[in-house]
This record gives sequence, structure tokens and C-alpha cells, in this order.
Amino acid sequence: MRRYSAFAIAKEALRHNTGWQKAWRSPAPRKKYDVVIVGAGGHGLATAYHLGKNHGITNVAVVEKGWLGGGNTGRNTTIIRSNYLQDPSAAIYEKARSLYETMSQDLNYNVMFSPRGVIMLAQTHHEVRGYQRTAHANALQGVDTRWISPAEVKKLVPIINLDGPRYPVLGGLWQARGGTARHDAVAWGYARACSAMGMDIIQQCEVTGIDSAEGKVTGVQTTKGQIACDKLAMVVAGNSGLLAEMAGFRLPLETVPLQALVSEPIKPCMDVVVMANTVHGYMSQSDKGEMVIGGGTDGHNGYTQRGSFHHVEETVRALVETFPMISRLKMLRQWGGNVDVTGDRSPILSKTPLGNCFINCGWGTGGFKAIPGSGWAMAELVAKGEPGPLTAEFGLNRFREGRFIDESVAAGVAH
Ligand SMILES: Cc1cc2nc3c(=O)[nH]c(=O)nc-3n(C[C@H](O)[C@H](O)[C@H](O)COP(=O)(O)OP(=O)(O)OC[C@H]3O[C@@H](n4cnc5c(N)ncnc54)[C@H](O)[C@@H]3O)c2cc1C
Repeated sequence: MRRYSAFAIAKEALRHNTGWQKAWRSPAPRKKYDVVIVGAGGHGLATAYHLGKNHGITNVAVVEKGWLGGGNTGRNTTIIRSNYLQDPSAAIYEKARSLYETMSQDLNYNVMFSPRGVIMLAQTHHEVRGYQRTAHANALQGVDTRWISPAEVKKLVPIINLDGPRYPVLGGLWQARGGTARHDAVAWGYARACSAMGMDIIQQCEVTGIDSAEGKVTGVQTTKGQIACDKLAMVVAGNSGLLAEMAGFRLPLETVPLQALVSEPIKPCMDVVVMANTVHGYMSQSDKGEMVIGGGTDGHNGYTQRGSFHHVEETVRALVETFPMISRLKMLRQWGGNVDVTGDRSPILSKTPLGNCFINCGWGTGGFKAIPGSGWAMAELVAKGEPGPLTAEFGLNRFREGRFIDESVAAGVAH
């Protein structure tokens, strides 16, 4: 892989940019791999990357039914934070956040990580207590957050209206090193690094069946033929229930549409990320100047990559009360993804009833921020066949044993 550098840019400028290579190869599938990963979203690609980097396993195929990063990874609002309540969540999300800090250097690819700070607004007394509790928990977990007053919120976000009629701002949970990153670049950076390690990323290749014998996966049926493997990792977010069904087991999760929208670009007016969970709305300003707005999940299960109109209306109506200046903005685009939501709003990184088959799903509305930590932990699970410290609590068995990791406050609707 050719390194990207200022020197390379200067050299290419002199020869009219004729020397750049493709960022990743697009090979035909081989007959067999040590590991097949289904799903070239951020989590699947990060799993492949860490299999190679941390465990030296590079005979890996990442199989993708569409284009890489075209699922939720390329559809989210890119918020990164680790201010979760429960210890296992704080551990994996903080691992991920810390890996984001050096991701551009690690991948030699600019993922535009912007630790601009994230505020979660408290707009009810219940939220005040909830976030103050989270701030205390984070202090014990070594996650750098703190409770801030309405005056401090106003200082950080001058455009905010603290005294909205329905949703006055009573304070907030502030994580100064939370922020955003460019979602496509995260997928592209991992894909380039995986391809450079000799891994095959096979796009336009849908898995349509799973072959097994004697309680173990032997390979997958795809639209590009059968591919045999020693180990299988399913990392397909909203499609997890369908993949599990092919493998003969069921998952305790539901798939629901979740949507986002962006405004026309305007001059810089807000340099932090603001989340308002009571109203199911959150907003940041992109580098292009668009206000990036996300809402809550639809109230019904579905696989349409859209979202219902009344949700946009409710989200915008509530945000206008908190940010009156957005009332005159034109909205440019709206889109949706399919998120996989578990009962306790925590992910599943687990062994499955099939001995050599592993699953990573259930990140729901908030898995972009977890990509590098999840990849790190999932690679360990796949390589060793047993959960490591970061995945131990996230197994499927927790639903049977009633050991929920309840993040409904931190992750129920927020991202
Ligand atoms: C509107 C929206 C806003 C969000 N905002 C945030 C946010 O601000 N912060 C945050 O942390 N998270 C956010 N999320 C959640 C986040 O996007 C997801 O949790 C995360 O991207 C999941 O990544 P993934 O790699 O698991 O899934 P995906 O990126 O969806 O990748 C799964 C891939 O599997 C492929 N696939 C599925 N079935 C098959 C098959 N049979 N064969 C082959 N390939 C298959 C799909 O095509 C897809 O590319 C948001 C999500 C949405 C939809």
C-alpha cells in the first residue's frame, strides 16, 4: 500500500495525479478462507483489520451485499462519545473513543476525527438525576465527563434557547473529548488497510445461505457462489435476524428504521454536538456547514431504509423550540437506516449455537462510535474462540440468565 503523505500529494501534483493506486482491490472470491466476515460496514471491516493487526490472521474475506459502508455506517450522524452508565459499556465505548483519537495515523487515512465535545441536555428533572448519576459512574470508570449548569451550556452553545416552553434546559452531561468523524472515511480507511494486508473485500455479494455440518459452519452460499471457511463472523446490523435465521437460531432483537436529515449549509454557528434525548433530537454542524439532525426510531419494525414523515416533523418541531434559529433553515436531504435494537439497548458480541460462528450486532442507534473498539474485541473473540475482557459481558447468554446491561437511558434513543 502506498503511504498517503504531503510528499505523495506534491509528487502527484507534478505528474497530474496519474500515479494514485485504487484504495482497495476488488477480487473475485476464493474457494476458501480462514475467516469469512459477512457485512462490510464499519464493524465488519474493523473486525477484519484487527484480526490482521492484532492476531496475524489475514486469510480473510469480508463479504458485502451492496457497497462497503453503504449500510448504517454511511448513514449515521457520526456522534462519538463514551458516557455510558454501566461498566462493560463504558469500557468498550471508551476503548473505541480512544482508538478514534489515533485512527487517522493508525490507518494512514484521514477520518476527520473532531473531538469538539458532546453535550447531552437534561430537559426534565428525571434526566438531571440520570445524567448526574452517569457523571459519577464515569468518574469511577475513568471516562472524562462532567455535569454542567445551564449557564455553562449557554456558553458552549450560544444559539440555544434555555427557556423553551416545553423543554427548558436544566443542565447537561459534557464530554469534552467526544465529537464526530467522517463516517465514509472510517469504512474506506479500514477497507484500504485490510486490502493492503491481503484480505479480500467482496462487494455486490450477498450471503443467501449458511452451510453447516455437525454443529459447525462449513461455508456460506452467496450470489457469487459458495465460499468455504473455518470461522464465520456475522456483522450485519439490521439484517442480523435474517442471517441468524439462515444459520438456524434466533436473536433477541428487533430491526427498526432510524432516520436523519441535513439542512442547507450555513456559516459556522455551533462547534459542539448537542443531544436532546427528551425530544429525541440531536444536532451538530458539519464541516460543510450543514446542520446534521437525527431523530428517534420509528415505532414499528421494518427494513425500509427510510423513516416515517411524522418523525421528522416531531424532531424538527422540538428542536426549533431549543434552537429557534433553525426554524428558517431549508432541509436538503433526509435518509434512513435499519438499526438492530436489543431489549437492554446493549450490543451482542457473542459465540452462537454453531461452534465456529460468531455474531456482532445489537448496536442499535449508537454503534458508529463503537466501531474501533468493537472491531478490536470481536477480532479477539473470533481469533481465540472465547470472549476477552471487553466482550465477556456482551454474550447472548445474558438474555437467558437475566444479566442485562441496561443502557436504556444512555442509548435508548440517543446516538
Ligand atoms: C440515521 C442513523 C443515525 C445514526 N447516528 C449514529 C450516531 O450519531 N452515532 C453512533 O454511534 N451511531 C449512530 N447510528 C448507528 C450506527 O450507524 C450503527 O450502529 C453502525 O453503523 C452499525 O455498523 P455495522 O457495521 O454493524 O452495520 P452496517 O454499516 O449496517 O453494515 C452491515 C453491512 O452488512 C451488509 N449485509 C447485510 N446483510 C447481508 C448479507 N446477507 N450478505 C452480505 N452483506 C450483508 C449490509 O449491506 C451492510 O453494509 C446511526 C444509525 C442511523 C441509521
